[in-house]
Amino acid sequence: MLRIVRTAVVCMLMVAVFRPAARAKSITVTVSGATEKIDAFDEKNVTYFSLSGLVDIMGGVLDWKMIGHTVTFADDTSRFEFVINSPFFNLNDSTYNLTYPAVYNDGQLYLPAVSFIPFLDRVLTQKITWLQDRATIRVDSEYFNVVDFGVAQKANGLLVEIFLTQALAYDIFVTEGNWVNVSIRDGKINSPRILSRRDSRFMYTMKAHQVEGAGQISFRLKRNVEKWRHNLADDPPRIQISIADLDFELDTSTTGRPLGPDNRIDVIVIDPGHGGGDYGAIGPNGAREKDVALDIAKELAKLIRKDKQFKVIMTRDRDKALTLDQRADIANNAGADLFISLHANASVKRNVRGWNVFFLAEAKNDSARAVAQLENSVFFRENDAFRAHQEGQEYGGANDPILSIINEMIMTEFQAESHDFAMMVDREFRRQLDIPARGVDQAGFFVLNMVFTPSVLIESGFVSNKQEEKLLKSNKYHKKVAEAIYQALKRFKAKYEG
Ligand SMILES: [Zn+2]
Repeated sequence: MLRIVRTAVVCMLMVAVFRPAARAKSITVTVSGATEKIDAFDEKNVTYFSLSGLVDIMGGVLDWKMIGHTVTFADDTSRFEFVINSPFFNLNDSTYNLTYPAVYNDGQLYLPAVSFIPFLDRVLTQKITWLQDRATIRVDSEYFNVVDFGVAQKANGLLVEIFLTQALAYDIFVTEGNWVNVSIRDGKINSPRILSRRDSRFMYTMKAHQVEGAGQISFRLKRNVEKWRHNLADDPPRIQISIADLDFELDTSTTGRPLGPDNRIDVIVIDPGHGGGDYGAIGPNGAREKDVALDIAKELAKLIRKDKQFKVIMTRDRDKALTLDQRADIANNAGADLFISLHANASVKRNVRGWNVFFLAEAKNDSARAVAQLENSVFFRENDAFRAHQEGQEYGGANDPILSIINEMIMTEFQAESHDFAMMVDREFRRQLDIPARGVDQAGFFVLNMVFTPSVLIESGFVSNKQEEKLLKSNKYHKKVAEAIYQALKRFKAKYEG
């Protein structure tokens, strides 16, 4: 399966059928979350992609060779035979019509994605789909080794099972609020399948995500997790977690989900963005986003700490580097009721000004995407797999494949509450700040996506604008921003508590 044989016996007559690619471009291929680019072009609104490019990325699932006008791609059971400039092709013993002709250009065979991908899907063991609006070919392969999830009430407790394709090492830790977190080493998680198993009779919420070197599944149960044990069973391989009943009554309602672990809004996590070697944005006169974020965070913490109804936790209270994972872990382990990430914005256009409040949801416009890309860039630096793809990306463009992946992963838990809090901050900022209001917007921020509580990301001004850079360096402005957020926080508590 993994070998690629390329015997391109190109007859000289081929020159006659070369044609220049109309609107050369590349499209994205995602294979279980990782992205690659392959050559493509559009002709009369049809996207053609390089079949050899796709086959390479999929690990050489088909061998190919070219003799004269005929190009064949084959594995042990399937054999595709294309004729250059003809819409007809043979798959094993049958002839099919692609509607659009196969095109040979610059050493590669190009096929119309819209009509060919469905054929490929039939013969490969992987699930392969063409997403026209994202210009993406998505491959969901057997790559997953964490494949399913089940939860069931047993006579004296709850049985949770995580199904694997093979025995894998794992860690389980239970955190405040009856969160059960399972980290599976080298686990490749089939998130859509697993998240579809969420059962609201037993759990408030559930998350499944991929981190470097591990797959993580977290779920928050509607019962106390005090007495529990786990084991690795086989046939099929699975992790079993048994949670003994103490005083549990089966909850059949699906409403009334309280916020945070205990129905009170008291644990506030403040996250000053960036830090250490990650300076964030830098202003024309040297102001650094990491310092601005920390200064505002300190003022906000001071203000909230005076109010004894709250407990404040800062992800950092000095200049140090933190990964986005670490920030989220601090919030999740603290049982945060609200997560506030503080930043300052930047633009290549030096006259762009104003504050923004973001909550987590799929970005709806390019400027929101650009902010998400800027703030997510630390994630890409942390993750090798994404690094190569980060380079050479168009800055926050509408078709940015990385952002579309983030958008696919976005969790919608707490979206309403996050939006609500963002609107409360918006209201206070409009009242108290003198710089232009860019308002509330939504985008896919990694750090917010990993936090299991309502959360916002605040851009308190543009450090790239000289006027605002000056403000962002002033303690007076830090205090104003902090005061406005604090007012919003009190309103949020009043609304969601009790
Ligand atoms: Zn930032």
